[in-house]
Amino acid sequence: MQVLKFGGTSIATATNISRVLDIVGAAARKDRVILVCSAISGCTDSLLLVGAGAVHYTDRISELEDRHREIITRLFTGAQRDEALKECEDIFKQIKQRPPCTEAFGEILSTKIIARKLACDGIEVQWLDSRKLVIKDDVKATYANIASAVEQRRAVRVFVAPGFIARDKEGSVTTLGRGGSDYSAALYAAAVGASSLQLWTDVPGIMTTNPKDLPQARTIPRLSYDAAWRLAEHGAKVLYPPTVKPAQEAGIAIEIKNTFDPSNPGTVVGDFKDAKGWIGLARKDDFIYLVTAGDIDTASARTRINGVLDRRCITWDDISFQDGLIGIKVPFDQQKEALKGLHREFFELEPNRTRRIFIAGYGAVGKALVKMIGDTSMTVTHNSGKTLRIAGVSNSTHYAIRPGGLMPWEVDDALASGQDASGDAFCKAIIGLEPHQAVFVDCTDSEAIYKQYEALLEAGISVVSSNRRSLAVPYADYARMKTAALQSGCFLRYETTVGAALPFLESIAMSANSSDEIISIEAVVSCTLNYIFSSKDSFIDTLRKAQKEGLTEKDPRTDLGGRDAMRKLIILAREAGVHLEEKDVEIEPVLDSSFFEGSVEDFYAKLEKAEPRFGRNQRFVASLVKDPSSPLGYKASIRVQTVDESHPAYWLHGTDNAIIVRSTFHPSPLVIQGAGEGARVAASSILNDILK
Ligand code: ADP
Ligand code: ASP
Ligand code: MG
Repeated sequence: MQVLKFGGTSIATATNISRVLDIVGAAARKDRVILVCSAISGCTDSLLLVGAGAVHYTDRISELEDRHREIITRLFTGAQRDEALKECEDIFKQIKQRPPCTEAFGEILSTKIIARKLACDGIEVQWLDSRKLVIKDDVKATYANIASAVEQRRAVRVFVAPGFIARDKEGSVTTLGRGGSDYSAALYAAAVGASSLQLWTDVPGIMTTNPKDLPQARTIPRLSYDAAWRLAEHGAKVLYPPTVKPAQEAGIAIEIKNTFDPSNPGTVVGDFKDAKGWIGLARKDDFIYLVTAGDIDTASARTRINGVLDRRCITWDDISFQDGLIGIKVPFDQQKEALKGLHREFFELEPNRTRRIFIAGYGAVGKALVKMIGDTSMTVTHNSGKTLRIAGVSNSTHYAIRPGGLMPWEVDDALASGQDASGDAFCKAIIGLEPHQAVFVDCTDSEAIYKQYEALLEAGISVVSSNRRSLAVPYADYARMKTAALQSGCFLRYETTVGAALPFLESIAMSANSSDEIISIEAVVSCTLNYIFSSKDSFIDTLRKAQKEGLTEKDPRTDLGGRDAMRKLIILAREAGVHLEEKDVEIEPVLDSSFFEGSVEDFYAKLEKAEPRFGRNQRFVASLVKDPSSPLGYKASIRVQTVDESHPAYWLHGTDNAIIVRSTFHPSPLVIQGAGEGARVAASSILNDILK
């Protein structure tokens, strides 16, 4: 079960609700969902005024009713529209009576509308009444109520529950406090042991300060529960402080994401150790707070704060230091100026832009990468503001680690006098360093190294891979790596695994993320076979030449049998959201099965005799084609195809690769074509993955 919560701005209009429904729909295709919603933005404020009988409260009611009617009119047609309008009118009849806790109706209105819309879209939906299930100040009873409500309805795909509202122990309707929908979501998540708790809001996660105060604010990718709580408790409204406890107790990470930019990873709050130093700035009442982690040098912090405030002529009272928190009392009208200065001092001038790179595999690609990092360091720093440092390298026998950085020309010596790299020694050593902003780069062709990705990601180390064996693993393993990356807030990137530096995966991911429906992908991705098919010489001579030039795998039959193309197809398909496994791919090898028996020498001997010939208009094509009759919704196959001039792949030369994607957005296909191999090209793609 996943819990997704959307705040008031995320559902403020019919257009916004449509975005929300896309996000919920995509989630519901993966697993069941509990959808928790706030009231539409501004609604709770207005209802509180209505409840209190403030002047002109009837105008507020009319304005609110108009907004809800407008949403309904835009979302529904026909009988559904009439029924929804009637339901809305009935709720407003109750609001007009101004019963106790009138503000509770905002969430009822929004969730009733959204649940109805989901049902119209054909989803099995159940609205849950949080006024019955959530008992204020009685977590145990709340969990039991929610668990049993969900347990009773196994056929339901999406539960929709109002946030914010509850009942008290006496049975009266009440609320969980302003901003309380976050807390509702955490209670629902903990009650069912959810696999994911996502708070969708109008900013890209928890940021170094409120972006409405300061546009320079940056997203904090990962935070410990404690640090997130400290920020929230001291004014970062993006997270309601009581939310943290139930999530932490249940061991569920809290993802905070932007409804208006869903592919932005936002912030993950979890069981992490924060980097020592400055976490973020918040303000509450008369105070500005600098949230910190670990032991900090208080004397130097005091000097820096004094300096900032003095230079900006800000009058401030004393500075208080507590564990993880520095409080500064600043008059309200000077707070923004103070925030600006403090943010600049602690978050913009920080020399925290160094990325430590650990490279596994020092073959052609690893070497090209080391050289490229050395050659391009000035340009990279100038263009991206980041400094890359080679902090460790391994080959098949040894590894060397230098946290301060290795120069490219020092790598060979360092490896020669390095440590034993058997098993997972290199990865263990990296994790032991607890490096910040580190990236592990897999340039090996190891079958087993992927098993270490999860531990690296969980330790906060990002992973970039050019090793396609690591990604074309059983889907369950692949999904675990992806989840580890998501939950840790680090990245796992592998653009290089298919088509070297060509942006194949990025383009497909873009379609998948924007709900563009992929109709077919044709990938001409076997460098060896493209080379052979486009050569004028005989098959055997070309193959020998290709092997000599290092274009083939050690046993060229891996390429000819389609295994390599299959791995690439699996990676492409998964990027498109299709859970493809090896067994789902139908392969017609280039040569019949007798060629695949015996040694490489036997194979060449047999080729001499058989002299197979191929035409220059043939291509080895891996394709994924939409097919509603197959269980995955797509059919995957790899075979030799004859192409004519109308086919984009007809124009491929040498070892070039191409993909041809047809989708709803690209009815005349998107074609990407270019150099598909070469160590320098691969290194450039890895570098791009590290920096982007
Ligand atoms: P929702 O209705 O989605 O729950 P809220 O208004 O409660 O949204 O919280 C999101 C708002 O929190 C943002 O629009 C932002 O202005 C404010 N905010 C305050 N501090 C921070 C911070 N450190 N990071 C991100 N947003 C913050
Ligand atoms: N609607 C409630 C509020 O405005 C709860 C929430 O949005 O989290 O406080
Ligand atoms: Mg909120």
